[in-house]
Amino acid sequence: PEAITVAELANRMAERTADLVKSLFKMGTPVTSNQVIDQDTAELLVSEFGHNIRRVSESDVDIVTEVDVDEDETLQPRAPVVTIMGHVDHGKTSLLDALRGTDVVAGEAGGITQHIGAYMVTQKDGSQITFLDTPGHEAFSAMRARGADVTDIVVIVVAGDDGIRPQTIEAINHTKAANKPMIVAINKMDKPGSNAQKVREALLQYDVQVEAMGGEVQDVEVSATSKLNLDELIEKIQLQAEILELTANPDRPAEGVVVEAQLDKGRGPVATVLVRRGTLKTGDIFVVGPESGKVRALVDDKGKQIKSAGPSVPVEILGISGVPSAADQLTVVENEARAREVAAYRASVIQQKRTTSAPASLESMFSALR
Ligand code: GDP
Ligand code: MG
Repeated sequence: PEAITVAELANRMAERTADLVKSLFKMGTPVTSNQVIDQDTAELLVSEFGHNIRRVSESDVDIVTEVDVDEDETLQPRAPVVTIMGHVDHGKTSLLDALRGTDVVAGEAGGITQHIGAYMVTQKDGSQITFLDTPGHEAFSAMRARGADVTDIVVIVVAGDDGIRPQTIEAINHTKAANKPMIVAINKMDKPGSNAQKVREALLQYDVQVEAMGGEVQDVEVSATSKLNLDELIEKIQLQAEILELTANPDRPAEGVVVEAQLDKGRGPVATVLVRRGTLKTGDIFVVGPESGKVRALVDDKGKQIKSAGPSVPVEILGISGVPSAADQLTVVENEARAREVAAYRASVIQQKRTTSAPASLESMFSALR
């Protein structure tokens, strides 16, 4: 097979040569920029950097890379992905529960969110909204740090009887850092002690100006318990989503992000994946983080088996070789050999990261003991 230098490959991908060299080093292939790498290695790098490989013909092994961006005409509207954040006990889970019309809180040990759940809620008009219930703000920033920036809109829940608290401020800061539009849901308005105006005023201190205070951030007084103004909250999310003009190409091999994963006693490794583009189907061969597999079954958020899942749809996947981590990327590939290859590469990168981060954690362990 034809070979290519690292520098030339970087050039074709419009990536920095140094980044490719670094990635190759992690793969256990130390090279200099002018060194030649074989085609298999090049192909791995190309897909790792999010590009496509276009073979000129079956016999012509020249690698032609193109930035993997969907053409405008392939794009179709997709549902917004909403993350609910806020201080503990301000009613994130209750609100989500009220929005999906089922009882999540009851199933939670001690009423504390155990994991990231992802649910798609269908409105009366047929439009849909996907909600992520995060266990904490670390998860949100960790996902973002790993390039798994799945959220389109953040709903910040503030209990009207408790006001702005440390995790509310954190949520505001994370939302701003992520450059996401926010909607403030002032919750527990059924409680006599709740004061929404006080919350609006207090938000000014953190540079959040809601519409009533002359700003542009939408806010809504709600109650998860008495189901007050849930329609209004949905409308505000839809309005915000319209402004964002969210689209994706559903007609391509699927790509998604793991929002949670676990080993299920009966079913084996199970991952909840949010599809970002393309359509995931049963029988698809995929790589997810360092694992790979073939989709044995797809289960939607209502526990129903489905045949395919398009953009913004959260779906449970069965048929994975092991348990991936939250924020791992899922990519559908053309065959099993390729899946194993990419998975092995990713596993080596993870191994490398673990090795290099060991001294730092030992050091922090010692300083914690001091
Ligand atoms: P989270 O930690 O933000 O997910 O908060 P939860 O949804 O677990 O709610 C914490 C507590 O507040 C629970 O006891 C809920 O029943 C209660 N709660 C949540 N929303 C409301 C509300 O709108 N009104 C009242 N009165 N209580 C609420
Ligand atoms: Mg919760």
